[in-house]
Amino acid sequence: MSSRFDLVTVGGGLGASALAISMAKRGARVLVLEKELQFRDRVRGETLAPWGVAEARELGIAELLLKTCANRILWMDMGFGLRDIIGTTPQKEAGFTYFHPEMQETLLCEAEQAGAEVRRGVTVVGVEPGVHSAAVIARGAQDQRIPARLVVAADGRGSVARKWAGFTAQKTPHPFHFAGVLLTGVSAPEDVMTYLFNPDFALVVGIVPLTKQRWRAYLGYCTENGLLLEGHEKLGTFLAESKKIAPSVAEAYADVESVGPLATFEGTESWVDHPYRDSVVLIGDAAGTSDPTFGQGMSITLRDVRVLRDALLSHSDWDQAGHHFARQHDVYFQTTRKVCGWLRLLFEDPSAEADALRERAMPQIAEDMTRVPDHLLSGPDLPADETVRERLFGS
Ligand SMILES: Cc1cc2nc3c(=O)[nH]c(=O)nc-3n(C[C@H](O)[C@H](O)[C@H](O)COP(=O)(O)OP(=O)(O)OC[C@H]3O[C@@H](n4cnc5c(N)ncnc54)[C@H](O)[C@@H]3O)c2cc1C
Repeated sequence: MSSRFDLVTVGGGLGASALAISMAKRGARVLVLEKELQFRDRVRGETLAPWGVAEARELGIAELLLKTCANRILWMDMGFGLRDIIGTTPQKEAGFTYFHPEMQETLLCEAEQAGAEVRRGVTVVGVEPGVHSAAVIARGAQDQRIPARLVVAADGRGSVARKWAGFTAQKTPHPFHFAGVLLTGVSAPEDVMTYLFNPDFALVVGIVPLTKQRWRAYLGYCTENGLLLEGHEKLGTFLAESKKIAPSVAEAYADVESVGPLATFEGTESWVDHPYRDSVVLIGDAAGTSDPTFGQGMSITLRDVRVLRDALLSHSDWDQAGHHFARQHDVYFQTTRKVCGWLRLLFEDPSAEADALRERAMPQIAEDMTRVPDHLLSGPDLPADETVRERLFGS
């Protein structure tokens, strides 16, 4: 007996809803299961890099985001003067920023408009892989088993669905935390995103203008300093630590108020090699959670959606499509991870070994900024070989 659904998604975040929109518009029968009745501020990604905006455009959701919730970011400040984002990226795109819950509401509504069935307040409690179809178990008064031609696990950075489906996650721990809070009253322009790194303090500060006079403030810091920036009572410490990085940050934060929770996350990356098996595919953070410091997660998620969509549309055998997606995912996820590792070492790491590296590399970078690989804005299709590494480290 054939399943009622072609695709069932575990979760209704960015990855699941973007895929639901794309596939429902092409006639697929899609069911989205999302546990939240209303999205709230979980302190998540709110800057979509230009290469992610290009993916959003390919998926037909860029204009929708702009019309409903997104702000265009034209300039980037990394402490070396303002960079013109549109003029200096191959995609010729601005960056987008948005309040994450508003983006989620927009896309989930659009998925429904496109013909997907969306059930909210439904928690998936199991996934059953299978050779020709898989199934999810949805929690209710009586648990319901829902079969589908393909189950898409898009349940985010703490994905349990991947465990139920029998995948094993790899991890690279490193000693950094990344905290974020929503602020008003920030004194900074609305079309400039600021990311400042200072390895002397092992700190990273991000100031991201959203819409409606709100800013997302991020602080990356080394776990060795013993801080855990969680809860409203730690806001003073968050601001004081951030202000250490540069006088411009002290000015920007002179008169701010928080309007959302303060939360901290591990910078640890985790991923599944080859995120497809037995009619279950992983996308977004469930397939690979990148270090949030470098703001790549949503762009990778949209790349996942586009690559998977194209594979499903071009293969009648969805098992082959799943494997095709998984092979491609491994390449762009690992390229991003590799380059982020280089940048973490050079710009964040407080060790003596990294100091020595900076002593050699930084004067050469000051003379020629193109030594810094541009994957964070321009995407993982740029080369990331030994020559690129040697240029960065000045060897
Ligand atoms: C502090 C921080 C800063 C970040 N900054 C950036 C940034 O600037 N730029 C960037 O590109 N990325 C950033 N990221 C990463 C970005 O937030 C993620 O990559 C992105 O949200 C992943 O989308 P997703 O759809 O895979 O998962 P999520 O957005 O996590 O969506 C998963 C959904 O699944 C639902 N769900 C989970 N379990 C179940 C279940 N069992 N049943 C039903 N529903 C379920 C959840 O409620 C949620 O709605 C940041 C992350 C963090 C933590």
